[in-house]
Amino acid sequence: MSNLSDKAQQAVEKMKVLLVEDDELLAESLAELLDDAGYRTDIAPSMRLAAALWASEDYTLVILDLGLPDGTGLSLLADWRKTKWSVPILILTARDSWMEKVEGLRAGADDYVTKPYHEEELLARLQALLRRQVHAFSTLLEVNDIRLDEARQQFSLAHQEWQTLTSTEFRLLR
Ligand code: CA
Repeated sequence: MSNLSDKAQQAVEKMKVLLVEDDELLAESLAELLDDAGYRTDIAPSMRLAAALWASEDYTLVILDLGLPDGTGLSLLADWRKTKWSVPILILTARDSWMEKVEGLRAGADDYVTKPYHEEELLARLQALLRRQVHAFSTLLEVNDIRLDEARQQFSLAHQEWQTLTSTEFRLLR
């Protein structure tokens, strides 16, 4: 049984961001903003580099520009969703392309920001995504000797075996 609150803790502490963006100036100013906000950022200016970084590092969050020199970020998105499905992905899209937003969300993006964006808005959306993710891990309630796993609807008393509850039992206990 893995410790869910430990996982949530790690997610908060690491906060490593993969920024896939080929516009160098934009990428650097965004990385600086993220740095000030307490994130560690790797910049990938192409699909090729983004794919390599994704395969070798563990990221807390990804910011993905869809228009890249060696292809569209959409295909990366589709590949990534097949492997590490839980990493939040925020896409950067052109302002007037509603189709890009729809395709991005369908391919597995969690949110999008249109260009040109306000840095504060991007940061706020990113933080909202991370909050939601941490919340998803925090499904373990503990009171005295009783532990209740909300995701699996199970309880354990004094660190004994986990037992599955009926919906009514679960609601009452909760
Ligand atoms: Ca671009």
